[in-house]
Amino acid sequence: MNNKDQYKTDNCYSCYYEFDAQWNTSGKDYNPPKTGCFTICINCGSLMVFKSNGMTREATTMEKNEAIKNTTIKTATDLIKNRGLIH
Ligand SMILES: [Zn+2]
Repeated sequence: MNNKDQYKTDNCYSCYYEFDAQWNTSGKDYNPPKTGCFTICINCGSLMVFKSNGMTREATTMEKNEAIKNTTIKTATDLIKNRGLIH
């Protein structure tokens, strides 16, 4: 699921929620994210992209349009946004 020892603390660019863990949706063992991998803020559902240093940035409009074609990303984003903020 996650490994706090290998994860750098980061904040959402949109809601500033502090991430202290990450979750690999494939269900396999922990793998550090690769540059360009998408991630979603668990608090507000904003779409972000991992940078080469393991931190995140806001996805560009082009990246957002590409990511939304992925049903897992689309479903997760919709669920989080419909649920509302948790923090
Ligand atoms: Zn957020």
